[in-house]
Amino acid sequence: MEPPSSPSSIITAPPDCSETARKLAKLIVEAKTCRLALLHYDSASESMVEWCWPADCEGRKVPPSNLEKHHKEFDFRFPCCVCADGGGRGAYVEVAVYPWWNNTTNSNFWTARCASNKCGYEVKMDMYCQLAPLAAFPYPRRAMKNSESLLFD
Ligand SMILES: [Zn+2]
Repeated sequence: MEPPSSPSSIITAPPDCSETARKLAKLIVEAKTCRLALLHYDSASESMVEWCWPADCEGRKVPPSNLEKHHKEFDFRFPCCVCADGGGRGAYVEVAVYPWWNNTTNSNFWTARCASNKCGYEVKMDMYCQLAPLAAFPYPRRAMKNSESLLFD
């Protein structure tokens, strides 16, 4: 009688999708539950790291409502979503930052969220802005377009 073939003899095993999904879900939970900093995906370490919040001219964190404007003028990227996983070192997928209206408090709260709505990354931003307001990073200004540089001639 033939011995049963060992599972280790299968060389071309399909990638374990559920394993990846579990890993990503864990990373997202990590970001959602971290109270100290806004975490985003780092493709170099394949883990969640603190997002360097951009600073305004006074060195304080730019409020979420101004991030879009700041993003146009300064050279920084919105947090990276876990969709970048599997893209290799240096892969970066920017999240979308947008406001949600809260009927209970009658105010907007800002959310950083997977732009393609695929992975489930979603982090509320407001509390991090109030937390350690000076833990912000001054990004360089983006290179000016020709029309803008004319103003300074
Ligand atoms: Zn995503």
